Amino acid sequence: MRTQIAAANWKMNLTFQQGEKLLDDILAAKIKLKDHQKTIFAVPYPYLTMTRSEVTDEKNYYAAGQNCHHKRSGAFTGEVSVEMLHSLKINYCIVGHSERREHFAETNSMVAEKVNLCLGNFISPIFCCGEALPVREAETQNEFVAQQLKESLFHLTADQIRNVVIAYEPIWAIGTGKTATTEQAQEMHAHLRSIIAVQYSVAVANQVPILYGGSVKANNARELFSCPDVDGGLVGGASLVAADFIEIIRSLK
Ligand code: PEP
Repeated sequence: MRTQIAAANWKMNLTFQQGEKLLDDILAAKIKLKDHQKTIFAVPYPYLTMTRSEVTDEKNYYAAGQNCHHKRSGAFTGEVSVEMLHSLKINYCIVGHSERREHFAETNSMVAEKVNLCLGNFISPIFCCGEALPVREAETQNEFVAQQLKESLFHLTADQIRNVVIAYEPIWAIGTGKTATTEQAQEMHAHLRSIIAVQYSVAVANQVPILYGGSVKANNARELFSCPDVDGGLVGGASLVAADFIEIIRSLK
């Protein structure tokens, strides 16, 4: 079975102590992940080492960056490089989150640079794509996300794209409490898989995990994850509440 992932995105929330307690509470549930299941905590940079130590003895639990800079190193005060994440033994990093695209003017080509740096440093990028409401209303979401993949991922080789996790996050569903229906999620995930198949092969497309993000909650995760092409979720708000995220992890196929 394809890898199934519950990924938490804490964003700019929680103090260090609150974060540590949240991890303790989640790990206290002692959910034993199967070989094909993973749980990933994308935490603020200062919490990465703590998070990595918390999960170090837990099978298939990982810490992740929420972002990285698109240049290798240099005079970029306040930024964090992919090499720095690698030196902390971090295995995953979110790239191209819609909040980065909106508030920090990140473009598809900058995201492509981040993807390259991640893969060159043994970090799997969790590549976010997804359309805003006007694009959905104009029914051009398929073309929109296809362009995002084309400009940020499709320069990769087949071996490289196998190490990418895709997160489809319709912007109109992020933090709004408005979730895509299972039909909308499945339709888009199948579309994403089909364009990867055309670019690479069906075999490659069947290996790339595609997560859904956008108001995943404890009470809708199981239904969303039951869609054949939905391989888990990237979760913001509900990942900040131990009981909710525990239920989301338990909802993985
Ligand atoms: C996100 O941050 O990627 C996200 C999907 O947030 P939320 O679950 O709060 O909608």
